[in-house]
Amino acid sequence: MSSLFLEASEDVKNSNIVIAGYPYDSTSSFRSGSRKGPNAIREYSWNLETFSPFTKMDIHTKKYADSGDIELPFGDTKRAINMIYSNTKKLLKKGKKVISLGGEHTVTYPIIKAYSEFYDDFIMIVFDAHADLRDNYLGVKYSHACAMNLCSGVIGSKRICQFGIRSYTKEEYEYSPNMLHFSDNLNDFDFNKIKNKRIYISIDIDALDSSVVPGTGTPEPGGLFFREFMDFLLKFSNYEVIGCDLVELAPDYDPSGISAAAASKITRELILLL
Ligand code: MN
Ligand code: MN
Repeated sequence: MSSLFLEASEDVKNSNIVIAGYPYDSTSSFRSGSRKGPNAIREYSWNLETFSPFTKMDIHTKKYADSGDIELPFGDTKRAINMIYSNTKKLLKKGKKVISLGGEHTVTYPIIKAYSEFYDDFIMIVFDAHADLRDNYLGVKYSHACAMNLCSGVIGSKRICQFGIRSYTKEEYEYSPNMLHFSDNLNDFDFNKIKNKRIYISIDIDALDSSVVPGTGTPEPGGLFFREFMDFLLKFSNYEVIGCDLVELAPDYDPSGISAAAASKITRELILLL
């Protein structure tokens, strides 16, 4: 097994797309294990072709590097958040587009914080089974159950579109009209809402159906199927996508490996989207 994503360069300096791993899962509310996500995605990526049958493009037409994982302190979420923020900022300063691999969804918050300092108008496209709009989870504000609440504190709820959402509290449901979009499927989205906007994509892998991705900490049946998701994702190739993340893959819950296979395939397409 290589320690890098499929045929990625180690030369961050001469690449404009950089993969960064954040193996953090300290606040996972049900089952932890997403700390093993980034390396599972790397391992399974070597089973993929570099050529995409969806776009008929090869990832070698892109200059992409894998910068490896940042070693994060488990149990100290604030410190982990600061480290992810600093690393993202460092890469953005060098003009890179970043593909961040989690880890739990909490890692998206510091990434968005850093992005908001470089781009002032982007829209977040979020795929998730869960609303993640809680103000706190058991008194903890920096929790993966609060990820989108934290992001909306940075860029505002009217710049966040949520798809695949099928699990939320009454309070989250009542708050949901404040989002730019909030839906459990992909068919009711008005693309006019994001016309000419820059896009940041956050993929909580549990948005996909549990039969497609059983390897996740908080599986939620009734989700998106792979082709349905991929067809929708590819619509963003008409947009300027400035960065993305893929989080919550917990490979140990899926001995078959199809969850990691799905996540690595999505990552290949993300490289082509940037
Ligand atoms: Mn989430
Ligand atoms: Mn989720």
